[in-house]
Amino acid sequence: MRVAVVSDIHSNLHALEAVLAAIEAEAPDQLWCLGDLVGYGPRPNECCAAIAERADVCLGGNHDLAVRGTIDLEEFGGDAAVAARWTRDVLQPQAQELLDRLEPEGFVEGIALFHASARDPIWEYVLGDEAARATLELTGSPIVLVGHSHVALQIVQSADDLVGGMAPAGTECDLDDVRAVLNPGSVGQPRDGDPRAAYLLLDLEAQRASFRRVEYDIARTQREIRDAGLPEMLAARLALGW
Ligand code: ZN
Repeated sequence: MRVAVVSDIHSNLHALEAVLAAIEAEAPDQLWCLGDLVGYGPRPNECCAAIAERADVCLGGNHDLAVRGTIDLEEFGGDAAVAARWTRDVLQPQAQELLDRLEPEGFVEGIALFHASARDPIWEYVLGDEAARATLELTGSPIVLVGHSHVALQIVQSADDLVGGMAPAGTECDLDDVRAVLNPGSVGQPRDGDPRAAYLLLDLEAQRASFRRVEYDIARTQREIRDAGLPEMLAARLALGW
């Protein structure tokens, strides 16, 4: 089975459409989404509709839970809180129904999925060895998929050693006889210095992970952010990939 994995779409419709087109060309068997469909960006309803239609599995992230009201907006700072409030105001019933169903963790095909981490499925950033080791210790599955940090990452454990780190475009990861924590990176707001939209292809027969990036019309999403009256920083950062 081949699975495309996406995460952290953040209401960036043009990034999502570019990724979905690239994924369609790969013709995987399934599409899994690790959460944060909304927040920060200008097109929450369209992103929810596209994921509802296409994803076989979808988790909920901290922004999804905040927008639907499960997490207090007090836990959000600055631009995130402003955007979450804006999203609540424009969210349509179908998108609300989708968000209401989402959980921050899941388990599919022997693979553990978390929006953030096994230790804290909603908030913890897995960016280094300590957090990756904790997540591996708390799960039995050989492969653990996480999102939330917006940084494409592959940390692989063989024997007791952890190796790996950031996973730039084109990174290929051999999963045979190892355990691994993989983060596909962010579709709609990458923070690893590459502004292109990110996704991951997992081949469960070949035991291989391939990290991919796709160009999209960043200026168009930036215009929509400004037209919506969302904070300027949320537009500016998209061009930087930070
Ligand atoms: Zn996110």
